[in-house]
Amino acid sequence: MRIATFTSNGDRKVGLVSADGKTITPLQLTQLQADSGALTLIESLAEGGSLPEASGPAVKLADVVLDAPLPKPRRNLWCVGRNYHAHAKELSASVFKDNAAKTDEWPIVFTKVPECVVGPYDDVLVPSEVSTQIDYEAELAVVIGKGGKNIARAVAMSHVFGYTVVNDVTARDVQMRHGQWDMGKSFDTFCPMGPWIITADEFDGTKTRVRCWVNGEMRQDGPTENMIFDIPTLIETVSRGITLYPGDVIATGTPAGVGMGMSPPRYLRAGDVVRVEIDRLGTIENKFV
Ligand code: MG
Repeated sequence: MRIATFTSNGDRKVGLVSADGKTITPLQLTQLQADSGALTLIESLAEGGSLPEASGPAVKLADVVLDAPLPKPRRNLWCVGRNYHAHAKELSASVFKDNAAKTDEWPIVFTKVPECVVGPYDDVLVPSEVSTQIDYEAELAVVIGKGGKNIARAVAMSHVFGYTVVNDVTARDVQMRHGQWDMGKSFDTFCPMGPWIITADEFDGTKTRVRCWVNGEMRQDGPTENMIFDIPTLIETVSRGITLYPGDVIATGTPAGVGMGMSPPRYLRAGDVVRVEIDRLGTIENKFV
């Protein structure tokens, strides 16, 4: 299934996207439930619940506004830094210089605040008064279904509800300034997400491809097989002593090709359009303003 959150006639709804991607069928949820996007559905299905009935006829996808599938995740998004070798190399002198010696032992994990999530085609606000080094990071994000603590690698994939696309937008100067990365990663609108969640029974996140274009120019292209820490390892790591809940999001890191890694660096400016595509999952595209 592809579960999307959308707005139609001013109301937020949650629905299932058709196989051809042209229509969406809204599901019976209360307005309060729909306002949290797919979260209620994920919680219910994770506990063995069944899918709600359709609340009306399918509507054309072109006639609705897609929101982030989780418009405000239940808590901070878990994010992984330095998870593709080529990306580790391109930023080895900057973002990862303090971690170079620890490569391959433990993943770098930081968080983004839930309020920075925006829809798959929403504008991203460039905080030009705070940063002059805005960068993109195309990423596959894992959405947790069944929660748990100390989840073993061997069973970790059974805790995956599905997958979505995110752009882990980053203010590099702010990221570097504070030692911890959360501030440089959490500006308002810094996490475009979507266009939907595809469930794990229909999509293999371990064998797909993450690509990114800026104004039509391809910048990133990496297979998820190249992750340093694979998805089961990330779930095992993040759940060590910390309970994961249905709807938690883990952004799995970005391939090589970010603006900071270029010589000279190429940061985003107002007017730029960044497109992130994951094979067999979907595409998000956001204008920076
Ligand atoms: Mg990232």
